[in-house]
Amino acid sequence: MYGGLCRESNRRMQNESTKLPPLAKIWGATTEQWHDAAWQMRHACCSAEDLERVLSLTPRERSALQQAGCRLAVRVTPHFLSLMDPLDESDPLRRQVIPQPEELERHPEELTDPCGEQRDEKAPGLVHRYPDRVLLLCTDRCASYCRYCTRARMVSGSGDDQWRLDWEAALRYLREHTEVRDVLLSGGDPLLLTDEKLNAMLTELRRIPHIELLRIGTRVPIMLPQRVTPALCSLLHRHAPLFISIHCNHPRELGADAERALGMLADSGIPLGNQSVLLRGVNDSAEVQRALVHRLLQCRVRPYYLYQCDPVIGTRHFRTHPREGIDIISALRGFTSGYAVPQFVIDAPGGGGKVPLNPDYVVAEEPGRLLLRNFRGGIYEYPVTPQA
Ligand SMILES: *Cc1c(COP(=O)(O)O)cnc(C)c1O
Repeated sequence: MYGGLCRESNRRMQNESTKLPPLAKIWGATTEQWHDAAWQMRHACCSAEDLERVLSLTPRERSALQQAGCRLAVRVTPHFLSLMDPLDESDPLRRQVIPQPEELERHPEELTDPCGEQRDEKAPGLVHRYPDRVLLLCTDRCASYCRYCTRARMVSGSGDDQWRLDWEAALRYLREHTEVRDVLLSGGDPLLLTDEKLNAMLTELRRIPHIELLRIGTRVPIMLPQRVTPALCSLLHRHAPLFISIHCNHPRELGADAERALGMLADSGIPLGNQSVLLRGVNDSAEVQRALVHRLLQCRVRPYYLYQCDPVIGTRHFRTHPREGIDIISALRGFTSGYAVPQFVIDAPGGGGKVPLNPDYVVAEEPGRLLLRNFRGGIYEYPVTPQA
């Protein structure tokens, strides 16, 4: 009976993930081609002309597409395009990857390097800001480019700065700095490296005795789930403990293919977290955020951070007031599983790092008692034990 149910649900899953979206016809793709990451990358849309085959662009989008590539290249995988409603100009997925003319504006609050990473760069590509962990920028390429990218200065090769990783210098620094116990691989998207290259990097990092934890920040399970193969999963599994933070902003990004890719990673024993960015017109409501965190948990991904959109040049149209993020957390905390609630953070400009922003549940602190507010707004008193 149980075995029968398993077989039944396996078959259902296979059917679902091997299904070809209607959009595949545009390229004449076979099922096998569609599910091949290299095919997806070769057929990614990088211009107005490419995109026009899939969506009808608005005049605003068409004009932005003429110029936006100088700031940050345009690239969207057929997979991500297949998740959009081609007739909806304000589709939340479309808004993340198709440039708008506002992207070409520059406002006084905006910066090229909003998180101040350059000042904490200890070797080309190695950022050491926090006491015990570092950020390693492994590549400048992504499967698709997000228009609000915090590293637009160097990602995609179109911005003002050239990405550079001096791997030998980074390794030397890491070997010497015994306080570093956690290395976060990011970029660009580290999962765009070949299995061989990724394995070589992880192997060398694993040889450093004081490095306990490896982490990868990636949007591949969302933008290019076809890249998550059994070979990749077993490679990552061999370097445990290795955590992955994905980047997903809207529940519609988690279709059958992303769910399958995330399931494969979870089955390989890789703990999964999500980092999302709070974006105007994409996910700036408690309803969308609730649906997102619930869908993430279904996919075995724990919501980790919700980021205030960094003041990167050309991203004003995406930015919400920080208060909106705090209000979203208030609408989640207590109303749903604690595992579903991310930490809302602002990465403070000037290199301040991540600052948590929380609803305030302490109403008053008095001698002998603390007045607390619960998630529904009820006031409760906690008797404070006198301290010796
Ligand atoms: C975000 C970040 C990290 C990792 O921070 P966690 O809070 O541990 O996830 C490390 N280094 C830099 C420079 C970062 O921006």
